[in-house]
Amino acid sequence: MSRVFNFSAGPAMLPEDVLKQAQAEMTDWQGSGMSVMEMSHRGKEFMSIAEKASADLREIMAIPDSHEILFLQGGASCQFAMVPMNLLRGKSTADYINTGAWSKKAIAEAKRFCDVNVAASSEADKFSSAPAQSDLKLNPDAAYVHYTPNETIGGVEFSYIPETGDVPLVADMSSMILSRSIDVSKFAVIYAGAQKNIGPAGLTVVIVRKDLMGQTIDGTPSMLNYEVQAKAGSMYNTPPTYAWYLAGLVFAWVKDKGGLAAMAEINKRKADKLYAAIDASDFYNNPVKPDCRSWMNVPFTLADAELDSVFLEQAKEKGLTTLKGHRSVGGMRASIYNAMPEAGVDTLIAFMAEFEKRNG
Ligand SMILES: *Cc1c(COP(=O)(O)O)cnc(C)c1O
Repeated sequence: MSRVFNFSAGPAMLPEDVLKQAQAEMTDWQGSGMSVMEMSHRGKEFMSIAEKASADLREIMAIPDSHEILFLQGGASCQFAMVPMNLLRGKSTADYINTGAWSKKAIAEAKRFCDVNVAASSEADKFSSAPAQSDLKLNPDAAYVHYTPNETIGGVEFSYIPETGDVPLVADMSSMILSRSIDVSKFAVIYAGAQKNIGPAGLTVVIVRKDLMGQTIDGTPSMLNYEVQAKAGSMYNTPPTYAWYLAGLVFAWVKDKGGLAAMAEINKRKADKLYAAIDASDFYNNPVKPDCRSWMNVPFTLADAELDSVFLEQAKEKGLTTLKGHRSVGGMRASIYNAMPEAGVDTLIAFMAEFEKRNG
């Protein structure tokens, strides 16, 4: 059986080396006589796996000691609620930047807890851009500013980190974490569902500034309290052990490949050539403003939407799968996270040219 180039937005491809290592260790992890799935989360074997994953993530992202790393459950969607519960700290309002579908969901959830000031929105231009710093109408009394650096559905990315003064900055990095280096010290909270660029679904990585913890709103459940989770080493209850282990293998893989600088170089190259191919053609179109185009999620439409299903069928025959765009956008979407080999992007570009020749 051969593996396909899977352009799914999430759950997404994992590095083949990682899958093979997991396969080799599946029934007997390093002489322990058991699978990682069968280990006590408090035993020394799993503790070593958990600690190494955390240390490797700290190293590759250069996470300062001021920040805690949490391995939680509930997905990025659970963070939409945990962020206000943990960060409002007696305040009644928070700033949100609205750049698309995921921002909107974060805003809707935050409204259950506080007044939301939409500091900027690109809805009027159909979410085809991200606002500039000068467009942000930030409230100095906001408890925090929340934004989505990469909108997975619209394929829109911020080219800068918003400057928010003393107001803590929160980022939903689900679809761009580990794609390049970022200055973690600029953020109060970074969170990401694992299933795009980290590992399997079921794990959520949260990086949170320690001094902001411990001031949750009344009634916050223990499971949703950053401080409780931090004190318990993310083991207030049984953590998603196997997903944590696989994430650790991915962190080690990133390190081995040269870290985030190396990832960034490859990711930029992959994205640049795909956008160049789209722009060079009258048959394909990407609606996003060039300086806001995502490195990770590349939506594009065909000149004739009637051809969409033929495109998808023939792409699949070439081993190029899950290219169907999100139902809210239509057309195609190629998600090209770290684990998508450059050869996958090259094969897609060649197929697109050939398809255009036959149908354009
Ligand atoms: C996928 C995604 C989510 C939702 O993640 P879950 O882990 O399914 O809750 C939220 N935000 C962004 C930016 C995403 O890409």
